[in-house]
Amino acid sequence: MKKRTSFISYGKQQIDEDDIAAVVETLRSPFLTQGPKVEEFEQVVANYVGAKYAVAFSNGTTALHGACYAAGIGDGDEVITTPITFAATSNAVLYCGGTPIFADIDERTYNIDPLEIEKKITSKTKAIMPVDFTGQPVDIDTIMNIAEVHNLVVIQDGAHSLGADYKRRKVGSQAHMTMFSFHPVKPITTGEGGIITTNSEEYFEKLKLFRSHGISKTPYAEEQGDWYYEMTELGYNYRMNDIQAALGLSQMRKIDGFIQRRREIAALYNEKLAEVPGIILPKQLAGNDSGWHLYMIQLNSEELMKSRKDVFDEMRALNIGVHVHYIPVYWHPYYQGLGYDRGLCPRAEKWYEQAMTLPVFAGMTDKDVLFIVRALEDVAR
Ligand SMILES: *Cc1c(COP(=O)(O)O)cnc(C)c1O
Repeated sequence: MKKRTSFISYGKQQIDEDDIAAVVETLRSPFLTQGPKVEEFEQVVANYVGAKYAVAFSNGTTALHGACYAAGIGDGDEVITTPITFAATSNAVLYCGGTPIFADIDERTYNIDPLEIEKKITSKTKAIMPVDFTGQPVDIDTIMNIAEVHNLVVIQDGAHSLGADYKRRKVGSQAHMTMFSFHPVKPITTGEGGIITTNSEEYFEKLKLFRSHGISKTPYAEEQGDWYYEMTELGYNYRMNDIQAALGLSQMRKIDGFIQRRREIAALYNEKLAEVPGIILPKQLAGNDSGWHLYMIQLNSEELMKSRKDVFDEMRALNIGVHVHYIPVYWHPYYQGLGYDRGLCPRAEKWYEQAMTLPVFAGMTDKDVLFIVRALEDVAR
């Protein structure tokens, strides 16, 4: 097979003229940061996912840090999460002095397995951080039931799942807090950006404080004078700015089309790869309609008589940007240094060894998909 003339990455943003115009308009406005656009964006995202409140952050990682702070995670608290995620998920627990506890995945969905969560609960458990890996929603109803029994906070990492449906409802209002990321490969982008959606006024207030130095106007401002404010918590500058929010507002107008296109691409992969030997396709649980941030296959090396690395290299040689998401978090040297053992989550580790990411993004054409399918057929033969 001849290689593609241009590299096709595993994911990328779609920026149109209207996005550019929206950003330019803000650049000409009096506000580059903390103007009207951030609040407008928060409103639009909250409405879209059906949550009461939303607090925008400078990126998804700072948003997760904010959520862990709002949940009250501190020294000695345990937070149960999945090893198959980007390191930012469990890093947010570490920022607050907590201890990430990794629970194994469900082999069908690659998502954290609620039964494994229950096995890891101790008297120190404070929260659960499930991840909607690849854009497929976790079984949040079951996880919320577990949380209620044990009095835990649930922070859903929805970095992949803005626009995905769980039981016919958008992800973002079921957990106590849900994080979405607006990094360029994610469902929509603001360059860098993130948000927490919640129905809790208490979390909403804490998140706003934390995002902006722990400073707020107080009732005393009136008697003290208009300059007066108080810093009551140790917060950070984790704010989103109006330029980012203007881009986000423009992107939100198109999100349904983006998700629709990702679903079409996944359906085309599903159809065309069904008969290719040695390739295991992703599955969805009933009631889920993924947003398909990632399309992950598994390679049966014995059947293919090739290692994952061989297949990966052959695909890359054709200019196809296959990837692997993710190395189990506790395998990273930093986590190894904290004392996590290999073998902790056997299903996740086995899955990782044979996983491969195929490109999917809203701007992909059917031709792109068919080229990748043909390449895989070739490699598998
Ligand atoms: C991207 C991502 C994050 C972090 O988001 P940023 O906006 O890049 O900081 C967190 N968790 C998961 C699962 C992600 O994919």
